[in-house]
Amino acid sequence: MFEKVLIANRGEIALRIHRACQEMGIKTVAVHSTVDANAMHVKLADEAVCIGPAPAKDSYLNKAAIISAALITGADAIHPGYGFLSENADFAEMVAAHGMTFIGPTPEMIRKMGDKVTAKKTAIESGLPVVPGSDGDVKTIEEALAWGDKIGYPVIVKAAAGGGGKGMKVAHSKEELADAFTLAKREAKSSFANDTVYIEKYLQTPRHIEVQILADNHGNVVHLGERDCSLQRRHQKVLEESPSPALNDEQRQKIGEIATSAMKKMGYSNVGTIEFLYENGQFYFLEMNTRLQVEHPVTEMVTGIDLVREQIRVASGAVLGYTQKDVHFSGYAIECRINAEDPETFIPSPGKIGSWHAPGGLSVRVDSGMYAGYTVPSCYDSMVAKLIVHGRSRNGALMRLKRALEEFVIEGISTTIPLHQKIITHPDFIDGQYNIHWLEKFLENNKKD
Ligand code: ADP
Repeated sequence: MFEKVLIANRGEIALRIHRACQEMGIKTVAVHSTVDANAMHVKLADEAVCIGPAPAKDSYLNKAAIISAALITGADAIHPGYGFLSENADFAEMVAAHGMTFIGPTPEMIRKMGDKVTAKKTAIESGLPVVPGSDGDVKTIEEALAWGDKIGYPVIVKAAAGGGGKGMKVAHSKEELADAFTLAKREAKSSFANDTVYIEKYLQTPRHIEVQILADNHGNVVHLGERDCSLQRRHQKVLEESPSPALNDEQRQKIGEIATSAMKKMGYSNVGTIEFLYENGQFYFLEMNTRLQVEHPVTEMVTGIDLVREQIRVASGAVLGYTQKDVHFSGYAIECRINAEDPETFIPSPGKIGSWHAPGGLSVRVDSGMYAGYTVPSCYDSMVAKLIVHGRSRNGALMRLKRALEEFVIEGISTTIPLHQKIITHPDFIDGQYNIHWLEKFLENNKKD
């Protein structure tokens, strides 16, 4: 087992990883930018190294600085968290080249899944159902139009290197496709320095349902059920729950088995998430994330399995602590992502936190690096806390969530707590009747009122 892990991240996820390490008797090294010198992950870690100025490209994305910090402090592994360098195959290779372990899948696997065109091909080869569309990159408008004719409108043009909902354009007709194609290509080039795009059928009322995978380096793979992440704004998740209100046990088991067998075929290791769109009883592979996800706590709440602990264990070469038979699902969990943003305009609201009171009580979990007197910087992601609750019934979880949201006090900055309060008391949400467009429509209607 590792003795010291460097955590190449910040905020709540850096704390989350630190906590798992502590419970395993592993020492931690925090890295931070100059503006993060007072951050909670820095205060709690056993050691901390400043790796550069505020802009992420000079600090949290600065591979050489992070590797140096790990070497200076004698860390034997690096946990990348999510975002930043977590899906950077070059970084994973650098870590290994310096004699340390990257806590994640192999660089080859990260590379394969990082390019969505290759990922889709691999998914097909591994037996996963995919959204109908171009088998590979689409180079010209003529080619795009031919695909439009073949699969029928609407279609979506997507960046092969895409992420964070960028580089995606929908075309409802032939006439719209030329513009969508050009715009998606341009956005892909400016956001990802790679203008490869592909085309797929645009599903109109799908849910976003993803399967959590856990695998070791010895060929053992289990699935930890699904998460429903359909509540999205601008293709970004806002609230997630497990299990999905849309699936019954049989469907759950079936997609879990399909996902597990695909991962075995692929030779996947560590944690991973297979994202699907789900419409009219059918699953369609969307992409695979080769890292821990923001919403992993809902899975932990319903399975009782510490995903970060397992991630660290399998990265050290240990055999998976669970077979599929050992994975038991119990109750319902819901997570709200609380952002430092105006709850109506979504304008970021960085600044100094006055009072801070996080809710507690049975089956309430708050993952956050915030505290009273802390200043939320403007240069990073606006998420300030994740509130996760568990209940024996979905209604019980909802009542608990309502109570916990009311109890949460964050003063000095605006947050999206009022938005979550509106969502979870809406009859559609209470009934589990929502798809990926529900939240955008709800926000539109709210504006009109
Ligand atoms: P990113 O990596 O940028 O998050 P994804 O491929 O995971 O991109 O897609 C993000 C979201 O975009 C999905 O959850 C869904 O809401 C929407 N989306 C992507 N592809 C399609 C599609 N073919 N049909 C309908 N919606 C889609």
